[in-house]
Amino acid sequence: MRALKISSTFKTQHSLERGSNVALLSRREFLSGTVAVLGATGLRHPIWALANASVAGGALPSQLLLGVDYYPDQTPENLWEEDSRMMAEAGFTNARIAEFAWALMEPSEGKFDFAWLRRAVETLHKSNIAVILGTPSAAPPPWLTAKYPEIVEVNAQGARLYPGGRRFTCPTNKTYRRLSLAVASEMARAFADAPGVVGWQIDNELTLSSSPRCYCDFCRAGFQEWVRAKYGSLEHVNRSWGTVFWSQTYTDFGQIPVPLPSGGDPNPGLALDYDRYQSYANSSYLEEQLGVLRKVCPRHFVTTNNVGLPLDIIDLRSLYEKLDFVAFDNYPGFFEMLLHEQNSGPVSPDVISSTAALGHDFGRSLKGGKPFMVMEEQSGKAGQRSFSPQPEKGQLRLWTYQAIAHGAMGVNYFRWDTATFGAEEYWHGVLNHDRSKSPGYEEIKQTIKELKALGPEVLNSSYAAETALVFDYDCDWALQIQPGHHELSYVAQITSWYGAAAASHTGIDVILPGVDLTAYKIVLAPVVYVLSETQAAKIRSFVQNGGMFVSNFRLGVKNENSQIVRTPLPGLLRDVMGVTVEDYAPIYSRNPGVKFSGALAGPDGECGIWADILQPSGAEVLGTYASGAHAGKAAITINSFGQGKSVYIGADLERASLDRVLRSLAASAGVRQALEVPSGVEMTVRQSGDKHWIFLLNHTATSKTVSIPRACTDLLTGQWRAGTVDLSAYGVRVLVAS
Ligand SMILES: [Zn+2]
Repeated sequence: MRALKISSTFKTQHSLERGSNVALLSRREFLSGTVAVLGATGLRHPIWALANASVAGGALPSQLLLGVDYYPDQTPENLWEEDSRMMAEAGFTNARIAEFAWALMEPSEGKFDFAWLRRAVETLHKSNIAVILGTPSAAPPPWLTAKYPEIVEVNAQGARLYPGGRRFTCPTNKTYRRLSLAVASEMARAFADAPGVVGWQIDNELTLSSSPRCYCDFCRAGFQEWVRAKYGSLEHVNRSWGTVFWSQTYTDFGQIPVPLPSGGDPNPGLALDYDRYQSYANSSYLEEQLGVLRKVCPRHFVTTNNVGLPLDIIDLRSLYEKLDFVAFDNYPGFFEMLLHEQNSGPVSPDVISSTAALGHDFGRSLKGGKPFMVMEEQSGKAGQRSFSPQPEKGQLRLWTYQAIAHGAMGVNYFRWDTATFGAEEYWHGVLNHDRSKSPGYEEIKQTIKELKALGPEVLNSSYAAETALVFDYDCDWALQIQPGHHELSYVAQITSWYGAAAASHTGIDVILPGVDLTAYKIVLAPVVYVLSETQAAKIRSFVQNGGMFVSNFRLGVKNENSQIVRTPLPGLLRDVMGVTVEDYAPIYSRNPGVKFSGALAGPDGECGIWADILQPSGAEVLGTYASGAHAGKAAITINSFGQGKSVYIGADLERASLDRVLRSLAASAGVRQALEVPSGVEMTVRQSGDKHWIFLLNHTATSKTVSIPRACTDLLTGQWRAGTVDLSAYGVRVLVAS
């Protein structure tokens, strides 16, 4: 982990059970179970699974990846055997290792030493602990930066960073790429056939850096090449960006700058393309290592870990497109600490739980619902300079079940033993600094035991979602360049809308533009500031065919070149929404308020930072501005278009009103909640055919009671339940209808 900021840029008793008939965990056995998990989703087998599909044989084996992140490079070798034995005793199936150990793997340029790592892998394997190897490119050693200082990135102010931390590298620089590829290639060759190795994590947390984008001369040259490939001609570039403004017409690709500080803000089209280029540079950097791993280690899976939302520097759909599955890191307690700092006070449990749930739903949706892995799950207090809160008894189990409830196929706890040196001394693991068992040790052990007993049927079920929330990097990046209001944050809007939608306790996929919408009853898309013709056509077709589309202010303002459209707003969706935006108003001190009417009749709402003033052209008004220059004008409308409905929420509603409005709209779209649950309890449903498993997750410190209309079996206890079920503080139940 990390020094991340959430704010503006805003962590059947089966074959692996101890004592089973499997004496030693081999790679093939390890893979076979996970093949079944992935295969049963009906989704395309990844390459590593295809290579091993024969071992599954259509049988039932099913297992979760339940591991721990381990640092033999930071641990005296005489402790490795004890560590491995203790991991096995705790029930762990795998360990991820080595992702920062470049200096030990390559002590000087071209001199590789994997003997220590081979001994570590062998020691783990002897205890049935499979190994996920991390390539070490996130932390170049001092010899490298001393010899090649040009690999260090330049930040948005034009200043070069310094070595000494990690993730301080330029994604474009050919020397850094060559050396990263060299160590990954040597590592791949050394471990392609090593017993116990099952997969790879490329690099580490590419989205996290003190300066997430690089602005160096190498990136400028790379950007110029990228622009040439995208546009083909300078005439096309100049027209797309509108460079006639401020006399910026380019007559040579070599003249194109990067958006460093200048005598005014950068061209919005250039700046948006630069964000796209930086995302591309990171993805293509990762693909170089992926290419070697695919070739040298065809039977191993390959992924990389990131934090999901709310960090947004790299288009994660592109990053994971060629990887086998999505993996990310999840630290709910760390989120709580950061949000506490930002809010200067306590944070509601619902906010913490929905922030983590948003990451899970985004991770699952990135590859169309395919199971994902939490590569780092919080196992104790966490932090770099400050400690996050100590997880309460039950929370580690709760967070693990939350991941499974949202579609995880694996959880690795971060980390095994707690470091006594280095920048992450405060990041507590399964063992304390003195190697005693942490407060969470027994809880993690119990959770692993429970999860192994869950059985293949529930683990092979899929997450059920009738609601989609659209996340669009173009909108995010374009609004960071020109927010329109200093408090307007796309990620904050997404987080708020997700939280409001999650309050309905119905399944949500967090999708990117281009995804097929036909499976959903309602599509939520806040602040669609940049709208492509393709996406507009998808939305139009979705509504025409009976779906409900809900958006809010700043809809369709810009095209993909970040130019404002020349048609009345909401541009391409004017007829679908049945309104014209008569005017728009950033709001600073005079909150005009909103009066609800019709199907949304209820208490007055507040209008935060923005008001689109709507002129209906066929749409029904569901809310008007209550005061100010636009009093009485439409603030919220609903339009019938084809067989469906479209809703325009022109006002930036405060959270309570947004919760109520989205809940009402989801209900009218036919989205049904399986059970009513009390505040602080999260409910998700996984299903397979007609069978449903209801996960009840109590995120509060008080016990809760949930009424159940049908008798159910509690999968964790095997007990039959009718009438009500109780949830202890931070308790979990998995119910299946009898
Ligand atoms: Zn660079």
